[in-house]
Amino acid sequence: MKHKIEELFLAMDECVLCPRKCKAHRNKGQKGFCRSADKIFVASRNVHFGEEPPISGQRGSGTIFFSNCSLNCVFCQNYPISQLGNGVEISQEELSAALISLQDKGVCNINFVTPTHYSAHIAKAIFDARSKGLRVPVVYNSSGYENPEILKLLEGFIDIYMPDIKYSNDVLASKYSNVKDYVSNNQLSLIEMYRQVGELELDENGIAKRGLLIRHLVLPNNTRNSKGALDFIARSISTNTFVSLMSQYHGAYKSQNFPELADGLSKKDYLEVLEYMDKLGFENGWRQI
Ligand code: SF4
Repeated sequence: MKHKIEELFLAMDECVLCPRKCKAHRNKGQKGFCRSADKIFVASRNVHFGEEPPISGQRGSGTIFFSNCSLNCVFCQNYPISQLGNGVEISQEELSAALISLQDKGVCNINFVTPTHYSAHIAKAIFDARSKGLRVPVVYNSSGYENPEILKLLEGFIDIYMPDIKYSNDVLASKYSNVKDYVSNNQLSLIEMYRQVGELELDENGIAKRGLLIRHLVLPNNTRNSKGALDFIARSISTNTFVSLMSQYHGAYKSQNFPELADGLSKKDYLEVLEYMDKLGFENGWRQI
């Protein structure tokens, strides 16, 4: 595992941690496209009850929210943290200690939110914390814009992958998230995550122990995008996959500049996607109606 951590930090010399591969010299303090360098910035370290039931449970999820992001989604619901960089600097040792401190509060898991650009620091923190008694599962809660080669180095560190599948169409990904190659990298990454951890396993109380949980936020006036995302999961992963079909879109950040996004998600659009999901045979997951 130490060798993998070294490789992850080496990948920041000319950074390729995410598919942007912007080659920023992060280990020398240069910021990349994601506005992050070698120092860790986090917006919060809290017990959170707002995730899906198998993640939050009754005891909550030990959530660590990282500042900045390698995507620029115009509708980002967390834009003060992901786009404006709200947060404070913490050391590698403080990150590792935070995992133990959250576990001591009785949480179901440790949940790294927007982890991609800090995957090296996260792997080291998990390794160090496990040597000091970390036992709860670790959740990688990601936008789904991942470099599949970097994900291979995370094998053994992550118990539960919880990625988004935001798009099945790169024209939309480019328009709304300023990224040209989301779909291919997202799809290969979801397949790699599934290879590593398989389908979601729950304990006797319905709390996730290990596996893959995919999230999809239905965007207003874009049901074809959602159906394409579900088609991919059904075709290339499994209809047993736990899928959280999210309806909580609201017009945040720059979405008012896009007339089709401005009015919010209609119940009709959400139900159309939900019906399609049922037709494909998905049985596991969460619906919000
Ligand atoms: S993680 Fe950040 S610095 Fe690294 S390649 Fe992606 S955008 Fe560039």
